[in-house]
Amino acid sequence: MPPVPVTASGRPWCALCGSGTVGRVRSVELPYGVVVRLCAPHATPAFLTRDHGRVAAAALERAWISVGCLDHRRRRSLETYVRRLSQPREPQQRRRPGSYAWPDVRQQVAQMRDRGERFESVMEWVRHVCTDERTSPPSSRTVRRWWRDTAWSAPYAP
Ligand SMILES: [Zn+2]
Repeated sequence: MPPVPVTASGRPWCALCGSGTVGRVRSVELPYGVVVRLCAPHATPAFLTRDHGRVAAAALERAWISVGCLDHRRRRSLETYVRRLSQPREPQQRRRPGSYAWPDVRQQVAQMRDRGERFESVMEWVRHVCTDERTSPPSSRTVRRWWRDTAWSAPYAP
């Protein structure tokens, strides 16, 4: 029987790379509190927002089917993720300051900064993911303030 490939390190796997994971993985939060661990290439805004999130959603769906955990909540999370990236934002009902409305986004901005991503690409990602109809998206100025605030990276430091 040929050897079965298994990573020897005991480090967490990227949900999409599995045993072929290279490098560190990080947590990425999806709607409905669903969290996935992804490697650096799979956690980039470029991948996560490709084709309005459909590429990432389809890949995660296949991965979850493979391990038998595609439940109702995860399916709804992927559908909502793609819908948020696909639809233009609706008129604002109630405005809240960006840093209070988007704590998870703020944390991810800090993580991206710590990984050395460019501010412009992170800002583009923020505009894609902050499409909740109840709140206003954080302004470029707010995101830049998060970018400078290194306190937020501490709990996520590798
Ligand atoms: Zn990966």
